[in-house]
Amino acid sequence: MDNNKKNVIVSGARPTGRLHLGNYWGTLKNWVDMQDKYDCYFFVADWHALTTGADKSSTIVENTREMVLDWMALGLDPQKSVFFRQSDVKAHAELALLLGMVTPISWLLRNPTFKDQLQELYKQKYKGQEDKMKKAEGVTKQLAEAAGEDAETTALHSDMAVYGFLGYPVLMAADILLYDSAKVPIGKDQLPHLELTRDMARRFNHMFHTDLLREPEPLFTNIPVVPGVDGRKMSKSYGNTIGIFEDAKSLEAKVKKMYTDPLKIKLDDKGHPEGCVVCAFHKLYNPDWKARETECREGKVGCGACKKQLIELMEKEIGALRTRRAELAATVDVEGVLAEGAARARAVADRKAAAASRAAGLI
Ligand code: SF4
Repeated sequence: MDNNKKNVIVSGARPTGRLHLGNYWGTLKNWVDMQDKYDCYFFVADWHALTTGADKSSTIVENTREMVLDWMALGLDPQKSVFFRQSDVKAHAELALLLGMVTPISWLLRNPTFKDQLQELYKQKYKGQEDKMKKAEGVTKQLAEAAGEDAETTALHSDMAVYGFLGYPVLMAADILLYDSAKVPIGKDQLPHLELTRDMARRFNHMFHTDLLREPEPLFTNIPVVPGVDGRKMSKSYGNTIGIFEDAKSLEAKVKKMYTDPLKIKLDDKGHPEGCVVCAFHKLYNPDWKARETECREGKVGCGACKKQLIELMEKEIGALRTRRAELAATVDVEGVLAEGAARARAVADRKAAAASRAAGLI
């Protein structure tokens, strides 16, 4: 028997729009690999979507449906894993409320993602308004001065720093702790978040003399480099993404636009594949990518041919995914899948939330 089978993994994604290849290679591919090894709970984090996007809430329902179809087309299977919508399982809010009672605000103000995202939100909101942009930098600087009165006051007075945004790590901790999650799949940069979750579990247990909340361990996942077409990190805000189900024509156009070694002009110029976006994608889609790197370095292949082959390789995989997704869109009852998953999730989460209330002296 697989010893990992009983370990629980919980992971969620915000329904904020269509997925791109950075999401696939960075997160979803690992989810697909994990579903045979662990008891997985994958949730649509619709409450989390509100923490930084309450003004865009009209798209959440549609994005939820699209995201679940995306998951299924990529190979996630609701028979193997539990899919649910976070707001269908009210225990997430209940445990977050209780954890909020034991979580010092200073912990949340020290959260590096809070500071970074705050600056990013300011930038997006005040794009083109220099004076406001300066204020954005000021806010972050003051926040970075760590935990002094002024930094906290500045953060709390920022109109972007709503209570739900500051407190999202508490909700995230509840998401994980409700299911006795043994491990949480994260990249190294997300470790501070998991540490916060562990701190909250420990403080709750200590304060209420219980061992109810299990401290989860990190499960570091293999995350390959997925650059955007311009060479920067693939991100919607940079406008450099390739969709997981990108249509054939625009896939071709995007690969043709990819950044390559600017010193390689002619076929026999010796190239530098490191830093070349086409080469980064060959590593993902071409089993013979090492040979391609060598050919590039030795001036035995031109960038045109290199891109042409990449387009064929990517279209083979992405085209099959498109077909599968279209079939699912026509046949799957997404609301039914989510309702069934929510019932399974509630069976576990409600019990834990009730036990947490008991431990806190409420029952
Ligand atoms: S030959 Fe291929 S790997 Fe080399 S620089 Fe051109 S596109 Fe990049």
